[in-house]
Amino acid sequence: MDDKLQFIVDERARLEREGLLVNIRTVESPQDAWITVDGKKVLNLCSNNYLGLANRQRLKEAAKKAIDRYGVGPAAVRSIAGTMSLHNELEEKLARFKRVEAAISFQSGFNSNIATIPALVGKQDIIFSDELNHASIIDGCRLSGAPIVRFEHCNASSLEQKLRDNFSPGTGRRALVITDGVFSMDGDIAPLPQLVEVAERYNAMVMVDDAHGEGVLGEGGRGAVDHFHMHGRVDVEIGTLSKAFGVVGGFVAGRKVIVDHLRQKGRPFLFSSAVPPADVAACIEALNILESSDDLVKRLWSNTGYFKERMKQAGFDTGNSETPITPVLLGEAQTAQEFSRRLFEKGVFAMALGFPTVPLGKARIRVMISATHSEQDLDFGIEKFIETGRELGVV
Ligand SMILES: *Cc1c(COP(=O)(O)O)cnc(C)c1O
Repeated sequence: MDDKLQFIVDERARLEREGLLVNIRTVESPQDAWITVDGKKVLNLCSNNYLGLANRQRLKEAAKKAIDRYGVGPAAVRSIAGTMSLHNELEEKLARFKRVEAAISFQSGFNSNIATIPALVGKQDIIFSDELNHASIIDGCRLSGAPIVRFEHCNASSLEQKLRDNFSPGTGRRALVITDGVFSMDGDIAPLPQLVEVAERYNAMVMVDDAHGEGVLGEGGRGAVDHFHMHGRVDVEIGTLSKAFGVVGGFVAGRKVIVDHLRQKGRPFLFSSAVPPADVAACIEALNILESSDDLVKRLWSNTGYFKERMKQAGFDTGNSETPITPVLLGEAQTAQEFSRRLFEKGVFAMALGFPTVPLGKARIRVMISATHSEQDLDFGIEKFIETGRELGVV
């Protein structure tokens, strides 16, 4: 190997040694309760397809129709010629569903964060960010150039103390408080009423990334802000269309003045091509389904309750999860990887997550429950967890 690239070889060897190498498997079937992975049919316990919309007939038909009507590519960024009537329709529907003044869509949730944060604060301002916030929030914060103060996870007193020590309102300097709505590795929910109450006292803007709350929490899956009845007190929400909505894309929902500002300043909106019509049409159909019935959301929650209860009875530590995201805490990364490998052999696909996705020593298998799972599916998964747990001396 070329000397100047030796650092990559060394880094890969380190990841392998520490059980942190990402093992990328290939899915060879549609996303459903059971999928074919690397040639093997397995129970799917690791997708974000909370409501089973990723392979739903109505969404597929909407996408096919949109291709016939609008073609496959947007051929431009949104601000030049890439805004099609479908994009506008999606944004109007999203605003209504989320019960906010306005919404703007992006290519992904990741892009939504890196568009929004630098549009709200700059290097003269300050950000207060939950220490376990998602990587795309962290990158958005860094991109803004604003100093970042981390407050303790889900702790409003810590936020208050950090604000008191670092920020005085009324000087023209802006403050932005950012939190995940649902934390993607632990499945716990941010205490929005307490965080917002503190932020209001300091006249700080509040942003909630609700990627794992949408389609899951609140009335009919309207998200974490709806769950806490905090409409109008959270300035801006980030969402994704790739998790419960089952398709791809992201969006920003909230105060109209912010949404309009992003049409002028959101860099991924201005400099990266629009989402293709087929995907946008499928997202619109997902919203139609959610608006017409909460059956899927209810099903997701009854599956979640059932799985968690049985896993706890079996002696597994599922942390502080309050949502369908169910971490099974195992400690060392090597144990989690071996656990996942054995589960796969037994026909269960559940991913091991280690540092830096989660803190050191907190490696886990993260189980994602879906409305598509039947009770027999969950029983099969639980049985294989117990078998493997006994083999490895975890339970
Ligand atoms: C998944 C996720 C994102 C990224 O969403 P994509 O649409 O997949 O880019 C952003 N924020 C949080 C909290 C997430 O969990």
